[in-house]
Amino acid sequence: MRALVAANWKMHKTLKEAEDYLRRLLELVPPDPPVELAVFPSFTALSLASEMLSGSPVALGAQNGHPEREGAFTGEVSMHQLADLGVRYVICGHSERRRIFGETDEFVAAKVRAAWAYGITPILCVGETLEERRAGKAWEVVERQLSAALEQGLSGPLVIAYEPVWAIGTGVPAQPKDAQEMARMIRTWLLERFGERGKAVRIQYGGSVKPENAGDFLRLPEIQGALVGGASLDPQSFWRIAQAAIGGKPSGEDGPLKLQRWRRG
Ligand code: PEP
Repeated sequence: MRALVAANWKMHKTLKEAEDYLRRLLELVPPDPPVELAVFPSFTALSLASEMLSGSPVALGAQNGHPEREGAFTGEVSMHQLADLGVRYVICGHSERRRIFGETDEFVAAKVRAAWAYGITPILCVGETLEERRAGKAWEVVERQLSAALEQGLSGPLVIAYEPVWAIGTGVPAQPKDAQEMARMIRTWLLERFGERGKAVRIQYGGSVKPENAGDFLRLPEIQGALVGGASLDPQSFWRIAQAAIGGKPSGEDGPLKLQRWRRG
């Protein structure tokens, strides 16, 4: 499975800065890289990025999308409009949107379904806060988010980004062994719920990934990519992170776990 390394620019870059970035990135990336790259600009730069990335090895992603096709939703951009621009991936349920904009599990689920309806692959973000981890509830929270978002099934290609909230933008990443353990629980849950189809889902790690630590995560047996914020804002840094995904994984997958061990009650 080819790893997916995604650059979430968040609310950064003017059009000129976006253009410079994409030109420099396209100079760095070879025509057929062994790792898949995707860039998620602000909506203001999406059209420009669509043109510049067309026919390139770098995919276009959107940071958000509204589930309704069209209508009176001032300030929103629909999955339908994103598909029209050639967007291949859309981030659903990023913790910043859950926390700052009050997005619920149900709304995230609607986005995931709408993305599929328009041929876009959702990147479903899940992850616990520090308090929840300290209380031993990390898996409980992640399982709730997964169950809600995928309640109506797995109807298309999916990427899951495990992003512990406390690791996002803080410079303090998770321990690789904790990321690996959570990714194995997610994989086991997917296999239990969706059988063979659960194997095709890519699981990313996100949270303070940098060129210096990217290899620690991208070489984990159960991680197939990274969702990168701050360190993706420079094309050289983003490409160095992507390069860390190139190269072998340790031999022997760990195999599915018994989820019972983490289930409470
Ligand atoms: C993110 O935006 O999803 C993210 C992980 O940000 P950062 O890499 O800055 O922690």
